[in-house]
Amino acid sequence: MRAALLLGLLALVMASSVEAQAPDTSAAPGTTASQSASQPRVEVPEPTPLALSYHRSGNILWVVNNVWGIAIPWLFVYAGFSARIRDWARGLGRKWFFVIALYFVAFAAITFLIDLPLSYYQGFVREHAYGLSNQTFAKWARDEVTALLIGTITGVLFLWVPYLLLARSPRRWWFYTGLLAIPFIVLVALVQPIWIDPLFNRFGPMRDAALEADILALAERAGIEGSRVFEVAKSEDTTAVNAYVAGFGSTKRIVLWDTIQSKLTHDQLLVVMGHEMGHYVLGHIWKLILILSALIMAALYVVHRASGWLMIRYRSRFGFTDLADVASLPLVLVLFSAASLVVTPLALAVQRDFEHEADRFGLEITRDNYAAATAFVTLQQENLAVPRPGPFYKWWRANHPLLGERIDFSNDYRPWERHEPLVYERYFKQR
Ligand SMILES: [Zn+2]
Repeated sequence: MRAALLLGLLALVMASSVEAQAPDTSAAPGTTASQSASQPRVEVPEPTPLALSYHRSGNILWVVNNVWGIAIPWLFVYAGFSARIRDWARGLGRKWFFVIALYFVAFAAITFLIDLPLSYYQGFVREHAYGLSNQTFAKWARDEVTALLIGTITGVLFLWVPYLLLARSPRRWWFYTGLLAIPFIVLVALVQPIWIDPLFNRFGPMRDAALEADILALAERAGIEGSRVFEVAKSEDTTAVNAYVAGFGSTKRIVLWDTIQSKLTHDQLLVVMGHEMGHYVLGHIWKLILILSALIMAALYVVHRASGWLMIRYRSRFGFTDLADVASLPLVLVLFSAASLVVTPLALAVQRDFEHEADRFGLEITRDNYAAATAFVTLQQENLAVPRPGPFYKWWRANHPLLGERIDFSNDYRPWERHEPLVYERYFKQR
């Protein structure tokens, strides 16, 4: 849904989770390597036919979503529909700010309805068909409307900023907007865990006291104040398992889905938490915000350069000739989406690198290779993932290292057995 586009950008930042991802065919079995005496090597399981089907249809859906996300806004501008919404907003709003706000409310509502069948299929029907969802229709519908409202309110509050910059600085607006994206994303990251996420699921302290005590001890070793571990009741939505780091500054926290606690053992959960603590300690959220802002600026520059000749070429169809006219919003989205597709492999490669380092951090702080490798096997099976997908999936969709690679690394990474220095030892407090 495009109303949530501003928040959607943050999906990249907020995706710093342990989550397994669905991938492609070619399962190469785990090969030979040194084995610890006490811990057997964990083989990478072959993906099930169901997982392969989920993976392949997921790739098709990815293409459909991207084509859809460009085609629909293009139709809005090409058919002159966007200009008509602007005329309506001008008639009703009169003042500059209200014209932008009214335009956005109408645009968000209309595109929400257009997107609804696709959202319903992929968010509800498909997840149930693959046995990955527990969600009632009422909960799904409530979450959709909640997301629409949040996206609309965010747009009304902030969309005027780039349009003001477009009006005041037609040549440099993309640069200033890209700069302002930094405090904006920081603000969203700050409020998301306390104001937004609780609108979708209940958050609370951990219920398993023994596990919590061990997690707090681990957190203390990693230099994190322990009160920042939360449990979220995701079992009303999904059977998939996950944990993630969210927030910024005083709202930064580690969150465990309640589903993961029933599927993983105590030791596996500690390795997963070690991974999340790695994101936390290594400042990955902060670094991703900076990288994301740079990519947003680059995409806005593409919008800036390409929109000019499009507006001249199609001036009779578009019904606007100035990007500072709010009717340009769908055109901006078309060009922004196209540019994003090009930079996606770069953004994902950075994220995969952060995830790999978080895996290393988790292994170094727990030294539990077997728990790590078997946890990834469980993630693969529970989330219907494919362990060794093809290059398309890796470069355009995978924000985590491929599960096959993560299992191999978990088996093999043991510098402490060879008395070699650890990469992150300096972060660990002495026991
Ligand atoms: Zn992670």
